[in-house]
Formats: sequence, structure tokens, C-alpha cells
Amino acid sequence: MNCPVCSEPMVVLELDQIEVDHCLNCYGVWLDSGELELLLEGSENRERLMEAFKNDRGAAEEKIRCPICSKKMNKILVSGTRRVLIDSCPANDGLWFDSGELLGIVELGDFPGDRRVIDLIRDVFGKKG
Ligand SMILES: [Zn+2]
Ligand SMILES: [Zn+2]
Repeated sequence: MNCPVCSEPMVVLELDQIEVDHCLNCYGVWLDSGELELLLEGSENRERLMEAFKNDRGAAEEKIRCPICSKKMNKILVSGTRRVLIDSCPANDGLWFDSGELLGIVELGDFPGDRRVIDLIRDVFGKKG
């Protein structure tokens, strides 16, 4: 699969038994549909966080195309202690995170006493996850 931002082939990485696609050029991350929920398992905030996903039709960021179906993806604004703008396939293929956004979302998940997933993402992607 090629990166939806820079069209470079992505590498497959395993995060907690979840396969994610990662671009080594722009450090973006692709998660197939449902994988974010799996990563957020154990978060007390998971449902609140998923409900905080709001379609942002007025977002100024340029739209990118889904790496699976090539449809233009929707901008999704996730608000918490900070705001993160991610991209979501309209056909529900998955989610795209620019560099740093996956870590930003997972940190919003607030894992009480268990920072394993956050540490894992930091380990795998560094500060760029
Ligand atoms: Zn890229
Ligand atoms: Zn798609």
C-alpha cells in the first residue's frame, strides 16, 4: 500500500498484535477500520474518545485520498485536552494519522496506571508516532 500523502510504499509494523502501515518518508500511520478501538482497549476514556470524533467539513487542511479505495477522505476533529485533526475514509476502510497524531489520540485516551500502549507507540515511532 502506498502512502496517501507522499505516495511512497509503506512498511507494515506490528503494534500490540495489530498490523499498521507506516510511511518512512512522512512518518504517517494508517490503521484499518477498528484497529484504533483495539489499540485503545483498556482506556477508561475509549467510548468518550470515540464519541468525540466529529466530522469537520470546514477544515482547511488539504483532503487526501484513501490508500485503499482512493475516495477523498473526511477530516475528523478529535477534541480533548488538545485538538487532533485526522483523516477518515468515507467507505470506512480506516484512518490516517499524520506524524505525531496517533500518539496524540492515544494520549487523549488516558490509560490509568497502564501506559503500555503509549510507551509502545513511542518505542515504535519515536516522537513522530
Ligand atoms: Zn508518506
Ligand atoms: Zn477507502
